[in-house]
Amino acid sequence: MAITIGVLAVQGAFLEHITLLRKASAEFTSADIQFNFIEVRTSRELSTCNALIIPGGESTTISLVAARTDLLDSLRDFVKVERRPVWGTCAGLILLAEAANSTKKGGQELIGGLDVRVNRNHFGRQIESFQTELTLPFLNQSGAPAEAFPGVFIRAPVVEKILPSVEGVQANEQQVPDSVVAPSKQAKDEKAKAATSDEVDIMATLPGRMKRAAEKGAEINASEEVGDIIVVKQGNVFGTSFHPELTGDFRIHVWWLQQVVAAMNR
Ligand code: GLN
Repeated sequence: MAITIGVLAVQGAFLEHITLLRKASAEFTSADIQFNFIEVRTSRELSTCNALIIPGGESTTISLVAARTDLLDSLRDFVKVERRPVWGTCAGLILLAEAANSTKKGGQELIGGLDVRVNRNHFGRQIESFQTELTLPFLNQSGAPAEAFPGVFIRAPVVEKILPSVEGVQANEQQVPDSVVAPSKQAKDEKAKAATSDEVDIMATLPGRMKRAAEKGAEINASEEVGDIIVVKQGNVFGTSFHPELTGDFRIHVWWLQQVVAAMNR
């Protein structure tokens, strides 16, 4: 089986993803699976892909550039109609959300696919970017807890709300000032709707600031504090707030490639 994985290469950390995908693919020893990794800048290139990664970078720039061509509509079809596996990291997660807050004036176009609302730049400005050790239960191997994952957060978004499925989103979100929503294409609504019966799965959270301080020894009772949602999956769409592509750790890439292989065998 030949599998072509695209990495959206409009702006941002696409080369880093390709480097980690190559390393991750070495873990697949079966001769039946052959991965091919390509940079995607046009609808034509996208149409050759079985799955896609949308990297971290600047979501406003990525959507502006993609909207100038027909790429944005092709991306929406890829994610919401064809329902191929897609993973967005940081800016990529923002673009895959059905709604986003704290967007630039005039809003920004989204691709959508995840019934969530993200809050951009949740942790603040560039100087508030940070790295922290993450517990990612989905990386656990046969019951043994996985080693901590290096979480790189650069002006990162978090998922601040799980939304009712796509149908309800548009009406719901229009009342929220300063937020934008991803349009679903009218003609393809039927098909898209039918495919969105999957629930949003919260796959990891980041303990809140208080909890992190308590872990470092501060005397705070943070047991009640709910963490921020930083990893979600809904059907074919997967999103992380942080940047695995900026670390040398390719475990999430291996995990995601396994999901892609499983989806193709379905
Ligand atoms: N804050 C950026 C945005 O809104 C995302 C940052 C990132 O990808 N590191 O696009």
